[in-house]
Amino acid sequence: MFHVKQFAFDVVVVGGGHAGVEAALAAARLGAKTALLTHRFDRLGEMSCNPAIGGLGKGHLVREIDAFDGLMGRAADAAGIQFRLLNRRKGAAVQGPRCQADRALYRQAVQNEFRLADNPQVIEGEVADLIEAKGRLTGVTLADGSEISAKTVVLATGTFLRGIIHIGDKSHSGGRVNDSASVALAQRVESLGLPLGRLKTGTPPRLNGKTIDWSKVENQPGDDEPELFSFLSSKPVARQISCGITHTNEKTHDVIRKNLSKSAMYGGHIAGIGPRYCPSIEDKVVRFADKTEHQVFLEPEGLNDDTVYPNGISTSLPTDVQETYARTIVGLENVEIIRPGYAIEYDFVDPRALKSTLELKAVPGLFLAGQINGTTGYEEAAAQGLMAGLNAARLAFDGEPVILDRATAYIGVMIDDLVTKGVTEPYRMFTSRAEYRLSLRADNADQRLTPIAIALGCVSEMRKSAFGRKMAALEKGEALIESLTISPIEANENGLNVSQDGIRRSAFELLAHSETSIDALTAIWPELRDLTPEAAKQLAINARYAPYLARQASDIAAMRRDESHRIPEGFDYAAVVGLSTELKLKLAKHRPETLGQAARLEGVTPASITLLLANIKKSRAKISA
Ligand code: FAD
Repeated sequence: MFHVKQFAFDVVVVGGGHAGVEAALAAARLGAKTALLTHRFDRLGEMSCNPAIGGLGKGHLVREIDAFDGLMGRAADAAGIQFRLLNRRKGAAVQGPRCQADRALYRQAVQNEFRLADNPQVIEGEVADLIEAKGRLTGVTLADGSEISAKTVVLATGTFLRGIIHIGDKSHSGGRVNDSASVALAQRVESLGLPLGRLKTGTPPRLNGKTIDWSKVENQPGDDEPELFSFLSSKPVARQISCGITHTNEKTHDVIRKNLSKSAMYGGHIAGIGPRYCPSIEDKVVRFADKTEHQVFLEPEGLNDDTVYPNGISTSLPTDVQETYARTIVGLENVEIIRPGYAIEYDFVDPRALKSTLELKAVPGLFLAGQINGTTGYEEAAAQGLMAGLNAARLAFDGEPVILDRATAYIGVMIDDLVTKGVTEPYRMFTSRAEYRLSLRADNADQRLTPIAIALGCVSEMRKSAFGRKMAALEKGEALIESLTISPIEANENGLNVSQDGIRRSAFELLAHSETSIDALTAIWPELRDLTPEAAKQLAINARYAPYLARQASDIAAMRRDESHRIPEGFDYAAVVGLSTELKLKLAKHRPETLGQAARLEGVTPASITLLLANIKKSRAKISA
């Protein structure tokens, strides 16, 4: 596992973070001989920041990764010590599964997957250079000089490219706490002429749980009925625990305000842009000056670990100030800091340099995935890793690319956002980013994606048969509830509130109403008792969303029509008569791959799209003539 068994691979993945792990596993599932090159095997599955997986939008990504037989959902289920379905009272489309994970168990679950597999092979080392031949990437060179050849390479180096760690006015080079930065590789990436930028992110101090007065803080238990991530999991494995909730107060904010000039972020030491949606406590105190308190979740990092992660107070203030402000918080009066919080600044590549496959337009054979593309978060990284791994393997075998559009998956939304709009701050997923979110629910990720994954050949026999059984039960159930019909008068007599329009309705149509439950229908049609509880729950959700999806269908068809018009590589925008000079320059710079992508660029009007379409058709006609 730790020694190179062979020096020629189909796919080489650089970086064993969340992106790299999924990329290597996905490429191997497609049958590509794959190597995962990373600094240390024992850091596979490391969570650099919060010990949690999922949440709103992010939970959808994890389910989608799982639908492709990826690892993140299964690892989170194995390591979860508290499961909560966020937005439980709202509609299924915006509910997000989340779990608090035991860090050590999560690492163990990820590392076990690699220990048990012959493919991918894990090779420990630092990649210092990329090998190019005849205009395409053909391998990598390690810091010790050994060369590893590959048909395609995925770079998933996270926050490591020229990473600088900041605590107060002190800073040092580092990729993450206790890990060195990648400087040689960053210089090599720069030499490729790629558009680079600087971003930053931060993490809070870690607290000694034994020094917290838990009796003073609010108790937050997990859900009574835990929602797991993987479609193959049934119940949590690890013992379940509660978290704590406390709040900052005016005293905390005073300490922070008085010391703002010592913060790396406010002292002018950091040039990179940070995540607006995940602000540091300094940011919160300055930007929301009228707020007298901010919530702090006290999240244990593991069952056999006293470390507590205080979610909500990430910081780059000096260590002594971190301790002073932490001790103003109720329950933390005598708290000890195990490790100070810090901010990290790093290089990223403008993702508009990528195709929708995550291959660089300018460097054939080189794919980028994860934080290197300007995103933040384990789930965003893992989802890109999955797609980069699949596409790197497909390219290695001269196969067709794998692209998910905006109506098929959150993964498609994220990649399309990245490659068409780029990033102005670290990109994280939200349900509001998906215009077709009523179709893209966490509950139906397998129904949307597992058939695609099966067709690609990246799904285990076990998942294939479990999915087959589930779909058979669903189809049988759907046929049943569509065949059972009732008149409005009969429905009324059975206590259902239905408009008296004389139209017979099926049980499926009745279920679309939020006040009609499957139990109420079972009282009318006892045969519904034959439905499995899972099928009954899923059919109720499918029925509720069916009318909305029918309305959305024409929008999706129009979007897919635009996506099907591919713009030929090297298309000459300058020759399009009637297009403004500004748009010609913009389109030539970003080189959208489809008419749909062109339409989503800022400033591109429907009239210019019509013009473009006519010219694309003309240029195709010329080529085929
Ligand atoms: P990483 O998980 O960073 O993994 C990179 C991997 O590449 C590592 O295994 C490293 O060893 C390897 N590597 C790098 N260079 C080389 C090389 N030259 N040769 C071989 N191997 C190499 N996310 C959130 O959602 N919320 C947060 O609040 C948050 N805060 C964060 C705070 C900090 C301080 C940090 C460091 C990260 C934070 N993140 C946060 C981000 C989250 O950790 C990342 O988004 C996620 O881990 C990115 O995954 P990745 O696979 O892209 O990279």
